[in-house]
Amino acid sequence: MATSGRSAAVSHVGKIRANNQDSGYAGRYLFVVADGMGGHAGGDVASAIAIRRIIETDKQFTSAHDAVFALQSALIAANSLLAETVFEHNELTGMGTTVSGILRVDNQIALAHIGDSRIYRFRNGALEQISADHTFVQRLVDSGRITPEEAAVHPRRSVLMRVLGDVDAAPEIDTTVLDTAPGDRWLICSDGLSSYVSDEKIQHILVTVPGADEAADRLVKESLDQGAPDNVTVVLVDIDETNDSSHIPPITVGSAASPLSFDSDSTRRSLRLPTLLLHPLKATQPDPSHFEPESEDYLDELILEDRRRARRRRITWLVAIALAVIAIVVGVLLAYQWTQSHYYVGADNGTVAIFRGVQQDLGPIHLSSVYQDTQINLSDLPPFNRQQVEATISASNLNLAREIVNRLADARTQ
Ligand code: CA
Repeated sequence: MATSGRSAAVSHVGKIRANNQDSGYAGRYLFVVADGMGGHAGGDVASAIAIRRIIETDKQFTSAHDAVFALQSALIAANSLLAETVFEHNELTGMGTTVSGILRVDNQIALAHIGDSRIYRFRNGALEQISADHTFVQRLVDSGRITPEEAAVHPRRSVLMRVLGDVDAAPEIDTTVLDTAPGDRWLICSDGLSSYVSDEKIQHILVTVPGADEAADRLVKESLDQGAPDNVTVVLVDIDETNDSSHIPPITVGSAASPLSFDSDSTRRSLRLPTLLLHPLKATQPDPSHFEPESEDYLDELILEDRRRARRRRITWLVAIALAVIAIVVGVLLAYQWTQSHYYVGADNGTVAIFRGVQQDLGPIHLSSVYQDTQINLSDLPPFNRQQVEATISASNLNLAREIVNRLADARTQ
């Protein structure tokens, strides 16, 4: 981490990845995060190339409109540079990078953004996400297919639809100009932060931690506490009264802070060896890329897969409901069977009868029926026995019920 007092840039490899493919820059007027991707040696190279090209715009502009134009041009130039690099180095085929950058021009912010790194404005205690995620799941949210809550845990949430790199000759870059004021904090981060730390938690840290460097540190620490499966990069800017930042030393972090690793094999080895030693187990795992090329076929395929997943979820629910219904039916049958193994002696139309079941009724369902009429008239019984029969006498089996009937027969008064 490094700091200039009112801005800070922090980048961490995280706890799983073998190398840091993120790059970050906190300059005098320009603040950028790039999150590289694309297989083995590509991601770190892509983000470093993009950042190095874009920091040429770290200048004092007289109008926000000019600043936006300069930023956008720099992103387009970075895109061409990435394509040229892939042309010269075939092993980098498929590399790409997100770029989210802001340029301060007095009380205005010029913004350029592509990919799923995020730009937030924190003002009066409230955090607002300014950039849109150029992701597959955000498209599903925008078209009403899934909710933002479903998107947050969607297995395809890191699939990007737009990036700079070996993909598209004319990248679709979002640009805008926004106002800013002293007291605002601008946060730019890679998805290594925003995918694992909630907006509420980010807001809480920005409310409670005053210094840019401490706050940036706390944000990265929060991601590490969540397991930091991805590289995590945070650039934080506190807007103060002055726009004179000429004395502030720029800070570069992440892969852009190291020599490009594809320049020579020896450079690459010297860069990679320490991380291999630090992460001996993880380094053997393939480095997952979260970039997928954009094509309508591919999008259709992803949408179909999403539908298949939804169908599987529905089927799982139906099976669960069917199993629950079967369990209830079996339970009721077993309970009914249990009641039918019991007997009692009671009165039926003036005579003593043996009933099978239990006296209680279950709503409209009778749980007992006459098993045998004994032809013993109630009126022939002494009053005490008659009352006993009218109140019913339980018997746990048929033999006991018959013994009771025999005793009643003996007790008859005539
Ligand atoms: Ca990432």
